[in-house]
Amino acid sequence: MTEQRSAGAPETFTKAPAIAIDSDAGMPAPVRAHFPGEEPPSGLRVDDLGPGDESQPHIRQALLGEPFDDPLVPGSVRCVACAHRCVLRPGRTGICGVRQNRGGWLYTTVYGQIVASKAEPIEKKPFFHFMPGSYAYSVATQGCNFHCAFCQNWQMSQAHREGFVPESRNVTPEAVVDEAVAAGVRSIAYTYVEPTVFIEFALDTMVRARAAGLHNVFVTNGYETPESLDLVAPLLDAANVDLKSANDAFYRRVCGARWEPVRDSIVDMRRRGIWVELTTLIIPGLNDDPDEFRAMAEWIATAVGPETPWHLSRFQPAYRLGELEPTPAETLVMAAQIARQAGLRHVYVGNAPEVEESTTNCLRCGERLIARSDFAITEWHLVEGHCPRCKHVLAGYGMENSPVVVRG
Ligand code: SF4
Repeated sequence: MTEQRSAGAPETFTKAPAIAIDSDAGMPAPVRAHFPGEEPPSGLRVDDLGPGDESQPHIRQALLGEPFDDPLVPGSVRCVACAHRCVLRPGRTGICGVRQNRGGWLYTTVYGQIVASKAEPIEKKPFFHFMPGSYAYSVATQGCNFHCAFCQNWQMSQAHREGFVPESRNVTPEAVVDEAVAAGVRSIAYTYVEPTVFIEFALDTMVRARAAGLHNVFVTNGYETPESLDLVAPLLDAANVDLKSANDAFYRRVCGARWEPVRDSIVDMRRRGIWVELTTLIIPGLNDDPDEFRAMAEWIATAVGPETPWHLSRFQPAYRLGELEPTPAETLVMAAQIARQAGLRHVYVGNAPEVEESTTNCLRCGERLIARSDFAITEWHLVEGHCPRCKHVLAGYGMENSPVVVRG
């Protein structure tokens, strides 16, 4: 990164941290939680689990656990990886299905057990203002702390609820980075399910990715706690947060979560210098009320910034909402209009070819800066991150020297 982009760019609302490549980077300093004791506390039931053995490489002691003093159930721990802050009695698993109290200690049960890995355009995540034209290596384990009725990746995220075990393979963080480098990507995306639930594996991979000159991005539901952001923020370059609604009732009813923690972590990420883009899947009858769009857009414009890219995406029938119709084109157009009226400068419409909006224009003079089609860059007019006409700096990360592949 150079300082060129920030100079003379007062409107650029956020600036991601520079990438310092430390070839000697090692594991993050241990941030072990305090556990009730070195040995499983007395009073456990016979079916309480103990630590995993060496034949289970995906079972590791977890970060972000803390003792929970329950006189009736000794050995209870609280997981603070996400805003559910589950209290787990011995033998119990958290809402995400992949973090478990084993013998009074918090464990992750999916360390390095990935169910998906592939290289794909960064625009597909979607990121439109982060290293445009580059590829990311996407990885995911199973499990998720939300149970959205419309989940498009439910075979990975909800496997524990649906009672099946998805195909997986065990990999090390080094192997993921090697695969990413071999694939020629510029970043690793922790995605498809909420990455916070596999934060230990993500962190170990992020350290090694940094050392190899790769960036790290989260595609997240924004349910991080300040404690988990403390761990990942120094290594996290960008996050696309799934802003499902600005309505607490929607979050509770459809996702099994709450709105306020999402709101707070989006603001917190921005405050920490992480590049943030937002995505909203618009679902007919559930979150398509114009007044709610307006409230959401106004909140983004004031609390996150008017240059925050907002991706509005068409719902396709999936999981428990398989009977619903896809989002009508006019709803997407209406939502985009409301977003612009609220002051948002970079509003995109996706997953709807007939009304797609994927072009970036200069917010100051209207000059066409970047055009996209099918997740590829088709036009690139930025000059070192600036508008060629008025010299305004486009908000984003890696906009001045991205390895853009111009097609067509
Ligand atoms: S990460 Fe899982 S176990 Fe931890 S608080 Fe969230 S849902 Fe609960």
